[in-house]
Amino acid sequence: MASLPSLLPSKPALQDTTSTADEIKTPLGKATTPESTPIFICALEHTSSLRPVVSDALPGCYRLLPSFKAVMAHRKKDHQTDDESQIITWNSDR
Ligand SMILES: [Zn+2]
Repeated sequence: MASLPSLLPSKPALQDTTSTADEIKTPLGKATTPESTPIFICALEHTSSLRPVVSDALPGCYRLLPSFKAVMAHRKKDHQTDDESQIITWNSDR
């Protein structure tokens, strides 16, 4: 399985001065698992003018999709291919 390059730009951390105590006690997000949050990433390299290459470190598409089926629909539409390789996922079942 391939892994994503780390390319989040660094930024100084700032103190949260707007959240209230109640908001912190009842957060909007929740912990999840790979089983309940499937993620499939299209790691095909760009060969068209779909999107300009962001940098040499990130030559691929890297679109996030919720299922294998969605990846293949995206590939057919945006890459004009049925290639099933170069998919990054933590979900083994399709
Ligand atoms: Zn793609």
